[in-house]
Amino acid sequence: MATKRGGYILNSFYINGRWKKASSSADKMSIINPASINGIGSVALGSIADVDDAVRAARVAFQEFQGSTKNERLGYLENILTVYKSRYEEFVEAICLEMGSPVTLSREAQAYTAIEHLESTIAALEKFELREEYDGYHLKYEPVGVCGLITPWNWPISQLVAKIAPAIAAGCTMVVKPSEFSPLSAQLFAEVVDEANLPAGLFNLVYGDGKEVGPAISHHPQIDMLSFTGSTRAGKAVAQAAAIGVKRVCLELGGKSPMILTEGIDLESVVPECVWLCMENTGQSCNAGTRLLVPESLHDEVVEIAKKVAESYVIGDPFDEATQLGPLANRAQFEKVRSILENAETEGIKPVTGGSGPVPGCNSGYFVKPTIFSGLTKNATIANEEIFGPLLAVMPYTELDEAVEIANQTQYGLSAYIYTQDDSIAENLSQRLRCGMVHINGAPLVAEAPFGGYKQSGNGREWGLFGLQEFIEVKAIMS
Ligand code: NAD
Repeated sequence: MATKRGGYILNSFYINGRWKKASSSADKMSIINPASINGIGSVALGSIADVDDAVRAARVAFQEFQGSTKNERLGYLENILTVYKSRYEEFVEAICLEMGSPVTLSREAQAYTAIEHLESTIAALEKFELREEYDGYHLKYEPVGVCGLITPWNWPISQLVAKIAPAIAAGCTMVVKPSEFSPLSAQLFAEVVDEANLPAGLFNLVYGDGKEVGPAISHHPQIDMLSFTGSTRAGKAVAQAAAIGVKRVCLELGGKSPMILTEGIDLESVVPECVWLCMENTGQSCNAGTRLLVPESLHDEVVEIAKKVAESYVIGDPFDEATQLGPLANRAQFEKVRSILENAETEGIKPVTGGSGPVPGCNSGYFVKPTIFSGLTKNATIANEEIFGPLLAVMPYTELDEAVEIANQTQYGLSAYIYTQDDSIAENLSQRLRCGMVHINGAPLVAEAPFGGYKQSGNGREWGLFGLQEFIEVKAIMS
């Protein structure tokens, strides 16, 4: 793919180790730079026939690759890692362009996560025994088969690699469908795989949307497993389609993660951190802390600090090194967030800062103001639904029991963030929160630790050893 800021014509799919031209009648979707709303190219959308071709190639490749050794798989992952690193800046630029991530975030986090996923998968595979001996039997850990990997646009390369790396480590072959809104980084990744000399058919990529190619993958009788990251709505559709073929389904879905503040913490340092946990990536992270639960007595002070922080962010051109917040990633997301803000205003819920108006200085592009709502009660819609934009809901609580009740009341259960000086409170809260990940006093994510949620945030666990195990079948051999 050329390194330029426009003119991207993605009209081929990567199938069986080659680029296969899309049919001349294939639908095309414009690739839009969300910071300018200018078209920067187009991507061909695949068809059921393209998915069939890709699955066929993956099926044939699986015959051989399922028997590959650990060292062979490690070699492929190392090759991918080496090539990926050599093209790092291209990924940084692609992610800025396709979904508006600020260049510093793209460089330091978005593109970097692929390296973390590759390295932690390599480390997990090195330690993983493919055979274990027991009394009277042994276990073989085999690949689950041909996998359909479907990903969203918000952390586009992270989500792709968090699936592709462990699938290869397990000995699976795959058909990948990235989000139609983030094809540039996916195209680059397919080029990396091509350069890394994997066996033909191991990795196949078909562009497409959630109407045709997504369902063609989740319904496909020759696909054994689906790993899906995206909205809870689409995750349910994937699981329903897959149920007919009793496929394994791993879902990483939405979130509405609480951040619980307790008495005695240093608000001047904690509150800015919490506001950033919500606003980073313009609020488009599934594990964003979007509800700030604060003791009633601290509420006004917290809101005052949060407001100042939100108003201090530099919003604008993703390619400007000073930019902290870029636009929302696409028109649908922009319209959704703006209408949520307008509805709240119509219902008389006024933000303490932000709101639905234009962002000063950002005259084009899908920009919205970082917005904070205070004093929200547990029934408010914006305190319960995933918004996927820079909207923070500050919610007062009277006792910790009430904080736990509020934290657990949504349909989601992905992450929670606890700030306390008291270890026993940290322990008590982390036990009672129904979610897959708990961060205490700002502890960051760890690439080796399992990533995933409870309840309608999904049933999968990605990253490291847990991510590898998702792609493994267990065979017991009695002898
Ligand atoms: P989306 O569900 O609309 O799309 C995700 C992917 O699924 C895309 O590739 C899309 O084309 C495809 N898709 C859509 N409908 C489908 C269907 N019926 N069958 C098969 N495939 C279908 O989500 P999005 O708007 O791209 O991403 C935002 C959502 O993803 C948010 O809800 C966010 O919380 C969630 N997310 C979750 C995690 C996690 O790990 N838990 C990570 C990132 C994003």
